[in-house]
Amino acid sequence: MDTTKHNISVYLTEEQLNKRIAEIGAEITEKFKGESVYLVCILKGSIFFTTELAKRIELPMTIDFMTVSSYGAATKSSGVINVKKDLEESVEGENVIIVEDIIDSGNTLSRLLKLFESRNPKSLTLCTLLDKPERRVVDDVNVDYTGFVIPDKFVVGYGLDFDQRYRNLPYIGFIEDID
Ligand code: 5GP
Repeated sequence: MDTTKHNISVYLTEEQLNKRIAEIGAEITEKFKGESVYLVCILKGSIFFTTELAKRIELPMTIDFMTVSSYGAATKSSGVINVKKDLEESVEGENVIIVEDIIDSGNTLSRLLKLFESRNPKSLTLCTLLDKPERRVVDDVNVDYTGFVIPDKFVVGYGLDFDQRYRNLPYIGFIEDID
């Protein structure tokens, strides 16, 4: 592993992140009162967000994990999503909540949503911790819950990596010395 030390500046503290996630958890609890939810953590970047959010949703819940990657340009119908690890159970008739780390171009989520729609959930809710709207190239991704809207800069920490490093930082930071 590359052990070069980068200069990382804190952008969102653990306290700010957890406070906002608690708010989203409370909103989801209210929205699905009397029902159960099926939380889908998109690996690996969403691990911290998912665990923190799950603790703040006071409803019967299944937590499952999925690993995906997307190829091809957003505007091409040939753009496919490659599912490297799929869910363990069927989500038919479930209130599915997709938990994503960050939306950048929107390609991944656009394709993921189509895949989930084809699996006939009762409802489909999209949650992202971070959003970089300036970078969006698709127009069919409607996010239900956003933690923070951030500028077009590369972030790491709280699950997000740079070349697999920095996921374990308890905060979200900008790497100041790349690009
Ligand atoms: P999209 O398909 O929306 O362009 O890509 C979203 C994925 O790109 C995210 O799930 C994440 O893995 C990666 N990504 C986008 N922006 C950043 C960033 O600023 N930092 C990190 N670590 N990953 C990013």
